[in-house]
Amino acid sequence: MIDIKDLKHLAKQKENENYRFRQFLKIHADEEELDKQFKELHNKYFKIYDCKKCRNCCKEIGISMDENELNKICEYLKLDKNKYIQEHLNEKYGEYTFKEKRCKFLDENNNCKVKECLPKSCKEYPYTDKEERLFSLYSVISNASVCPVVYEILEELKKIYNFR
Ligand code: SF4
Ligand code: SF4
Repeated sequence: MIDIKDLKHLAKQKENENYRFRQFLKIHADEEELDKQFKELHNKYFKIYDCKKCRNCCKEIGISMDENELNKICEYLKLDKNKYIQEHLNEKYGEYTFKEKRCKFLDENNNCKVKECLPKSCKEYPYTDKEERLFSLYSVISNASVCPVVYEILEELKKIYNFR
């Protein structure tokens, strides 16, 4: 298992290699087969890594919520929506993001305060079980520095494809 403290550094070291691997996959990988491999590795590594102990994406990636999701959260946490938007959120094309990178719904004990009404972007991150991964490899590579599961998946895929 990767220690989250080392992840950024490790991912930086692999960055150029990962972009070469992206090119390799674009030429050699079959779209459906690659999705299947991603899904299998996603399931394998999310059995090993516990998001509740990690929470790195909550600290490093700004979540986004649509109006409906924000309404549910404000209702759940009993927040004054307009005041909360003014103080903590930016809005663009109907999507809200925090002004700061760290999610404000993460409490001091690393627990998510809104797990009962999680926005879709939190439920789906890091998207490694989604379809059409062949067309989202830039984002996969950039997430390798945030999510240890993504890093591990890329390393395993390199072995599967005998990539050097
Ligand atoms: S809402 Fe919860 S799961 Fe989503 S980023 Fe914030 S703390 Fe993490
Ligand atoms: S960075 Fe990855 S392993 Fe860590 S909490 Fe987020 S999804 Fe889970």
